[in-house]
Amino acid sequence: MAIESPSLHSDNLSFLSRRATGTGLLINGDWRGAASGRTLPTLDPATGREIGQIAAAGPADIDQAVQAARGALDTWRHTTPVERARILWAIADLIERHIDVLAELETLDQGKPLFVGRWAEIPGAINQFRFFAGQAMAIEGNTIESSINYQPAGKQMRTWTVREPVGVVAAIVPWNSPLVLTAMKLAPALAAGCTIVLKPAEDTSLTALRLGELMMEAGLPAGVLNIVTGLGAETGAALASHPDVDKIAFTGSTATGRAVLDAAKTNFKRVTLELGGKSPSIILPDADLDLAIPGVANAIFFNAGQVCIAGSRLYAHRSFFDKVVEGVARYAEGLQLGHGLDPATQMGPVVSRKQADRVAGFVAGARKEGATVVTGGDQAGEAGTFVTPAVVTNVRPDMEIVREEVFGPVLVAQPFDDVDEVVAAANDSQYGLAAGVWTESLSAAHRLSSAIRAGTVWINCHAMYDASLPIGGVKQSGWGRDSGKQALDNYLEWKTICAVV
Ligand code: NAD
Repeated sequence: MAIESPSLHSDNLSFLSRRATGTGLLINGDWRGAASGRTLPTLDPATGREIGQIAAAGPADIDQAVQAARGALDTWRHTTPVERARILWAIADLIERHIDVLAELETLDQGKPLFVGRWAEIPGAINQFRFFAGQAMAIEGNTIESSINYQPAGKQMRTWTVREPVGVVAAIVPWNSPLVLTAMKLAPALAAGCTIVLKPAEDTSLTALRLGELMMEAGLPAGVLNIVTGLGAETGAALASHPDVDKIAFTGSTATGRAVLDAAKTNFKRVTLELGGKSPSIILPDADLDLAIPGVANAIFFNAGQVCIAGSRLYAHRSFFDKVVEGVARYAEGLQLGHGLDPATQMGPVVSRKQADRVAGFVAGARKEGATVVTGGDQAGEAGTFVTPAVVTNVRPDMEIVREEVFGPVLVAQPFDDVDEVVAAANDSQYGLAAGVWTESLSAAHRLSSAIRAGTVWINCHAMYDASLPIGGVKQSGWGRDSGKQALDNYLEWKTICAVV
């Protein structure tokens, strides 16, 4: 596979010379480098070439960013809802105006095919800001008729609740869909009146920095959004444990989620966690296979499998198991791998060498344990971090490849004979993020969507997202929900007021 270095839009060239020089910390409205002067390289995963340097923020930078967010809180939380809505809408408009250059930058940094950012993820980010612009103007408490009856004679009791912003939010996001996952944190937090310190993933910080510029241009006051880049174990850990952060909104792996939870306990920060998954795709005997086969293939191979809700465990009825495996394997073999900026590319690289080694290691490990690798699972290309899409069969439920999140283009396929058996197999996981069920039976669709323990169940589709739909997991897939009006609750406290009048 020969990969050309892309020629970039002039907007991105000037962005890279401005911000990818180790000066991309946004603190109190100013852009600067880390106090230590340390930087980290950021690479194009399709070529392995360096795109630029991001700042490696340390404790002193984190402290300044948190203090900036604290300083901006009182003013921001008391802006009128319509003013917050106006700014959120202006941010959406600016992202929309820059959609082509943002998609290009995301592809360069993360590796995904251009169409994924251009037509799915960045429109999704825009919708987050528009949806929460509306929600900013719909925050409400309740009046409550209490039974308190010991007020002084002639007086009356009035009791009601109000919603208040939780305060300074640390938003920590992963590398698989950087811009839209960032929007899923920032939009509801800003709508609620919170101020933010954002920590993008070290491998994919660039679109967050460009978004920061656009948000300042949209009129967001200094200090309301601060951005700190750097390694998780240093920058992320310092932010998560900072005593003046009120809430952590985290998306990432279940293992890091545990570390974040630990860091939060020092001052009982509020925590929401969007964590890993090992989601089942189930094809029932009455499914329309013309829809189901490409559907389950896309559920795992989209974005090279680097999707938290990827359908990574396939359960197909034994009567057509071989046909389904054959169909998905042909689909995988037909995918054109290449640089995400090449319009012919259907699957890009995985994000880093570390991730490519991890994904290929899972497949090699399964082969050693006796599984059959029907296709794929090899590293490919010369300098980039490509892994060929894999289908693995003859697995046992206790194998690592069945139990652990691979977070790459690897599908494990298992046959089943009856519905109770497949529900038990689907639920036999530490995770509970999502599931896909393929069936033409209305009653089977209802029964399975109720029986499967997951935050989302898709029927005859997969990975349907919308800003209006809550998304999140049960079991070790997390706490709380992003998106939907439920996400606003993550950033609001209740206050009860009792008045004698
Ligand atoms: P990760 O947990 O390694 O990193 C996520 C973020 O946390 C990064 O910004 C990282 O720098 C930071 N971090 C790392 N160590 C930290 C620490 N000790 N303290 C604070 N921050 C720290 O995850 P990843 O590899 O970047 O992303 C892949 C994972 O994200 C997968 O498990 C995937 O399922 C999950 N994910 C979940 C959702 C969801 O909505 N549930 C969405 C996307 C991705």
